[in-house]
Amino acid sequence: MVREQLAQRGIADRAVLAAFSAIPRELFVPRTLASRAYEDCALPIACGQTISQPFVVAYMFEALALTGRERVLEVGTGSGYSAAILSHVARTVFSVERFARLAASAERRLHRLGIVNVHVSRADGTLGLASEAPFDAIVVAAGAREVPQPLVDQLIAGGRLVMPVGGDGEFQSLMRITRSESGGVSEEDLGQCRFVPLVAGTARR
Ligand code: SAH
Repeated sequence: MVREQLAQRGIADRAVLAAFSAIPRELFVPRTLASRAYEDCALPIACGQTISQPFVVAYMFEALALTGRERVLEVGTGSGYSAAILSHVARTVFSVERFARLAASAERRLHRLGIVNVHVSRADGTLGLASEAPFDAIVVAAGAREVPQPLVDQLIAGGRLVMPVGGDGEFQSLMRITRSESGGVSEEDLGQCRFVPLVAGTARR
């Protein structure tokens, strides 16, 4: 997967590639789909959500330009897979998920793998995570019409936010927002992508 689907398709960040080699994706997909864990596609997980496509996760993390010293906020823990990858390329990861059930199972998987620098909580990521802000980088694994302002506000100067942004269709543009020293922002379109929707509020289960 790392060689054929990531490196050969242009992912060059060595730390990102090493992280993908270190984390067994089959532990993050439903048992019945384990044989498909290394296909380059999104797969269904509980609560009607998906574990993202490996290439897209790698592309997003490469776009964050991490050095390994950052505090990172991830919105949309899902299975916990991308949080596990992030644990290898950042210093501390705060990952929020609106479904309590997904947050709990992700936490169990990360614990089982001995990952101690990821903190999962059930929370509405459209609000960011004020108690731990600011962040050097923020990654959002769900798409919305607009970037929620609290996320921009919780970035340090020079911080990067990567998130799918789009209208009503099923596709979004992967946007990188960089906060300047003066507090302004610059935006870059990194290409088309397809994510589950970012939904405000926490889920009942
Ligand atoms: N990164 C995940 C993929 C997550 S799919 C993985 O590797 O498995 C996107 C996730 O975002 C879903 O689990 C969905 O429940 C969650 N989500 C959607 N809106 C949210 C919100 N407002 N706050 C927190 N999580 C949210």
